[in-house]
Amino acid sequence: MRARCPVCGLVFEREPGYFTGAMYASYFIGLFVTLPAWLWLLLAGAPFGTIAGAAFVLVGLVTPAAFHYSRVAWMQIDAYFNPMTFADDAGE
Ligand SMILES: [Zn+2]
Repeated sequence: MRARCPVCGLVFEREPGYFTGAMYASYFIGLFVTLPAWLWLLLAGAPFGTIAGAAFVLVGLVTPAAFHYSRVAWMQIDAYFNPMTFADDAGE
């Protein structure tokens, strides 16, 4: 992951451990991407092992994208609630 945005110079890791909160976003991305599949399997009467296995595989497939987009989502939330901490960043 880059330290700064190559276009505007925004520092991505705002402070040590900044992206710890992105785990929450990652959790919800994984949940909502896999929810239709395991809900469908559950309603179709599939055994627990099949549902758990399908969820495990789907989460594995989604993880690379979730890793990046959860960080994007986390920074968007931070920028929304703390806009001033982003104001003096660009062009340093
Ligand atoms: Zn940028």
